[in-house]
Amino acid sequence: MYLIYLFRRDLRISDNPIFHHLQKHPQFCHILPLYILPPNQIEVSGFLQDPSLESPYPQARSRLGKLRRCGPHRAKFLAESIWDLKESLKHRGSDLIVRVGRMEDVVGQILKQKEFQGKVGAVWMTKDWASEEVDEELRIERAVKEEGDGKIEWKVWDGEEMLLNDNDFPTSDPAQVPDVFTSFRKSFEPLRDNIRVSYCSNRSQLPPVPPNVPTQAAPFSISTSLEDFISSLQKPVQDCGLGPPILKPQGASTAHPFIGGETSAHERILHLLVSGNLSTYKDTRNGLLGEDFSTKLSAYLALGCVTARQINAYMVAFEDGKDLPDFGIRLNTEVNLSNAKGFGNGENKGTAAVRFELLWRDYMRLCMRKFGDGLFSIEGFRERSQSRGPEDVQYRKNKPNSDTSYHWSNLSSPETRYAFDRFIRGETGTGLIDASMRELALTGYTSNRTRQNCASFLAKWLGIDWRLGAEWYECMLIDHDVANNWGNWAYVAGVGNNPRGRDASGGAEGRKFNPVKQAWDYDHNGEYVKAWIAEFEGVPSGNDLGDGKQGWRDVLFQGWKVDDIFRHTKDKRERELREKLKRLEWVNRPLGKIRYQPKDQVQGKKGSDAKRGGTQRTRD
Ligand SMILES: Cc1cc2nc3c(=O)[nH]c(=O)nc-3n(C[C@H](O)[C@H](O)[C@H](O)COP(=O)(O)OP(=O)(O)OC[C@H]3O[C@@H](n4cnc5c(N)ncnc54)[C@H](O)[C@@H]3O)c2cc1C
Repeated sequence: MYLIYLFRRDLRISDNPIFHHLQKHPQFCHILPLYILPPNQIEVSGFLQDPSLESPYPQARSRLGKLRRCGPHRAKFLAESIWDLKESLKHRGSDLIVRVGRMEDVVGQILKQKEFQGKVGAVWMTKDWASEEVDEELRIERAVKEEGDGKIEWKVWDGEEMLLNDNDFPTSDPAQVPDVFTSFRKSFEPLRDNIRVSYCSNRSQLPPVPPNVPTQAAPFSISTSLEDFISSLQKPVQDCGLGPPILKPQGASTAHPFIGGETSAHERILHLLVSGNLSTYKDTRNGLLGEDFSTKLSAYLALGCVTARQINAYMVAFEDGKDLPDFGIRLNTEVNLSNAKGFGNGENKGTAAVRFELLWRDYMRLCMRKFGDGLFSIEGFRERSQSRGPEDVQYRKNKPNSDTSYHWSNLSSPETRYAFDRFIRGETGTGLIDASMRELALTGYTSNRTRQNCASFLAKWLGIDWRLGAEWYECMLIDHDVANNWGNWAYVAGVGNNPRGRDASGGAEGRKFNPVKQAWDYDHNGEYVKAWIAEFEGVPSGNDLGDGKQGWRDVLFQGWKVDDIFRHTKDKRERELREKLKRLEWVNRPLGKIRYQPKDQVQGKKGSDAKRGGTQRTRD
């Protein structure tokens, strides 16, 4: 009997529920591991045998902004992850067959193949709760039932990609998931004791791939080397609508240089343990620059190259001073933990904080199950949540009747189009936002701290539909994950699970970040802003921002101040820099003048503007 295993966001061999349960199914003499690139989410025209041919599928573009759904950074990471899985499967006597097309069509084509008829015993895959994937699952089920005449087993396994297991929740009814994270978190304390162990068994050999697997259907063909595969994915999405290329500052280096795949995911975790970075995570996690201020595990988790409970298993062994679990991955990393900070000293605030963040990830997934398509509506979860805080009661009273009466503007207005285009290019005139948006466009990654600021800036300062921001992140982020991305955007916009983010009038004014204050707090020396905004080359930074150079820091965080601050300067270099900056549109005409003056600079100034940071919006 043959088994067809359809991979989706479970690109790993270890801690894999399907491979684990397979051990109890010796009837499968052959397994066909299959990864199908879905043309509605990933642009597949780069796989056309002849570039002059037209793809049978429409371009993979988002619903609102018609943005690319998977940009070049994630495309590369995905390709690497697929290739790593292919290599691991080959090493075990199997292989990964990659195809382009709608999943149900590809599966149907295989089941129709003469050599497969009567031989396929089952088609299995793991569960994904995002609504497109749920629909996809139903269509594949239909194809399996039709082609198999009801004789092929169709099974969707729990993906077990969360820290907690479905069976650990007090109820399996998603509607019972609390609307506020804190209530959810409290039911699993102490968290370390409530996490399931991962499957450690990892078979060294797998049944071979069946003979006569149908080739890729025309007009596509699948590249046979990783380089060609990456190029086929990236070529059609080089233009993501950013306009002229964004200047890369000299010396700027990505915070996420890591390649995709299960092997690198495990190597990354081992590095974090050996270097002691997990133990210091709580203190560094709000960092902006460098590889190690946070784990950079999100992209691996998003594609299922590693599971949250595997990360936990490594941390438990580390905390207990024991041997690390063996997941059967062939690693190139030497592991010597004896000198690692925190080794053998039990849970520390760093490892506890990583667990806490992973629990947020679980929570976002559960909310996606609970609210379904609400995740993609302008009102987010808000309309559907049962939360009854004072803001909600007031909100319901004032609730406008239709989507359009929300305060957010959309791309049908030329003013919004103009502002959105400048936002995604990192040309708003607010340093922290611009640095983050450019870092994102150039590398596919930006920190959690700046993601919060950018989301707040778009939804709350510019008043633009937060879903356009989520669509842009979906395109650009290396670690895009439906639940985490859309859930966090809704949260920051004030329509998710964030009671403090709401207000009574429509969600736009509750708890909003002041990105200038945030820059002062988290990028005190302006190093991050300077690292990603090429036009600031020559502006002093870091220690150079000492006495007398305060003005430059103001300029890094609020470019438009350059004229005010350096109007009368006699310094030749300052005059030249001022002139150079003044010629830039984003300096001259910032999208918003967000004011903030740190306490130590408010010298006897009266008025709330100086203290709190008032704003004046310029949308001309
Ligand atoms: C507007 C916005 C969009 C986001 N989009 C995504 C996304 O598409 N994919 C994604 O994985 N994360 C997203 N996040 C959450 C968070 O920013 C990233 O998980 C984190 O920055 C990834 O870097 P890291 O792995 O080094 O995180 P770490 O700080 O090392 O955290 C460890 C892990 O915990 C999880 N985690 C951390 N913060 C959150 C959070 N706020 N919500 C849910 N899980 C969290 C992630 O899996 C992460 O890998 C978003 C946050 C915001 C504010």
